[in-house]
Amino acid sequence: MFSNKPSVHVPTVVTRLTWRYVLICTLFCVAVFAIVSVRLKASALKRIDQVLEDELREFADLYAVEGITGLTAEFERETRATGAEELFCRLLSPQGNVLLSSDLSRWAGIHEQLAAVRFLSRPNQVGFATLYPDSHPLNARLASINLDGKGILQLGMSLLRENRSHQRTRRILIAGSLLMILLSTCAGLLIARQAMAGVRRVTRTVGDIRRDNLYQRVPPGSEGLEINELADAFNRMLQRIETLIEEIKDVSDNVAHDLRSPITRMRGIAETTLTGPQDSDAYREMGLTILEECDRLTEMINTMLEISRCESGAFEMNRETINLTDLLNGAVELFHPVAEEQNIRLRSDLPNIPLTIRGDKSRLQRVIANLLDNALKYTPTGGTVELTCRKETDRIQVDVRDSGIGIAPAETDRIFERFYRCEKSRSTPGNGLGLSLAKTVIDAHGGTLQVRSVPNEGSVFTVTLPSG
Ligand code: ADP
Repeated sequence: MFSNKPSVHVPTVVTRLTWRYVLICTLFCVAVFAIVSVRLKASALKRIDQVLEDELREFADLYAVEGITGLTAEFERETRATGAEELFCRLLSPQGNVLLSSDLSRWAGIHEQLAAVRFLSRPNQVGFATLYPDSHPLNARLASINLDGKGILQLGMSLLRENRSHQRTRRILIAGSLLMILLSTCAGLLIARQAMAGVRRVTRTVGDIRRDNLYQRVPPGSEGLEINELADAFNRMLQRIETLIEEIKDVSDNVAHDLRSPITRMRGIAETTLTGPQDSDAYREMGLTILEECDRLTEMINTMLEISRCESGAFEMNRETINLTDLLNGAVELFHPVAEEQNIRLRSDLPNIPLTIRGDKSRLQRVIANLLDNALKYTPTGGTVELTCRKETDRIQVDVRDSGIGIAPAETDRIFERFYRCEKSRSTPGNGLGLSLAKTVIDAHGGTLQVRSVPNEGSVFTVTLPSG
């Protein structure tokens, strides 16, 4: 059994959509944060390297012109102007011995770091390294230049200021990302709620529909095409259910009606037998009537069951290759005596060659018999009934034509419904199931059964079947 209670563990679509939206937004923010952060750092470092290199080249030029004396004065001037904890300079011999150095007292632990710097062997080669001295909470950038083999000039710069500005940027980025995630949560929730509003409306309306107000329909809304399509699908389904329920109601009414008459008749007979002793002929007559009524009822019930089985696909068709020409000739032969008795001309125009189809022989025989039976039943004395058959490209067409009472245009669509009997023919014996069964059988064979009729002139029932 299906429960109509929503499961408590299943998250709503709104929740899922919001989470997904937030997740996507978070990933996007993290990616943007990482890219911006890395690029900012790289461009800052590039700028610093450029400043250091320019300064180094100036020192190198000065050294070339003024020698170590000029360089000593410049070292002092630079460190004083910038601050001894911000900048340091060194001149090394080609062997790596320190020839000249600015004040390194504020740079604790720098010597070990400097000792580990890769030595520049190529003349005029410029190299960069990042140092992590103990004295500086963050790091420092070192640029070195090989003075044409005459020594190494080094210039170091604290990255403290850069790092601080980088941290500030990072904080702004994090705050921006968090704000964006928060906004995206609200936006996601709003969008998901709006998207689902239409579904909720459809669910509410469908939920309100009960047995007694099946005519109700989901009205079109402005939420979007998909929701209108969903509403349309529901409306079509409701229409089908309504039609089905109407049909079931009609069928039950008709069954009740058709059962009442024979049962009333049988009850009347039973009452008569109880009123007093009857002669044996009367008893015989009563027995025969009861038998007839029982046969009629049994046939009706069997036909109904057969229609249900065919419709539900539960019946087994004994498919075989059938010579349709033979089957039609047999049917004409069978109905000749009936036609003669009613003084109706029964003609046939059938091909001389065998026309084969794949189908259920006995069921198809029953269909043709029903159509011929109807044609003879609803054609007055002196009329004509004609059976013709011809082969089209991949189909075979069988026509049963009569010059009978015909069918009113308003009723032609209804004659295939179960128990439907036309106004004009209600006094003729019948149960209104024959055509319904015929159509179901022909449909199951992949064919069609149609009618064209003119009241008081006659009708043509056309069966088409795929040739096999
Ligand atoms: P029935 O047992 O009443 O003949 P059918 O299902 O065979 O049941 O036919 C349904 C109704 O269609 C009939 O009651 C009759 O009113 C109409 N009908 C069927 N065939 C013909 C026909 N050849 N000419 C006129 N009316 C027909």
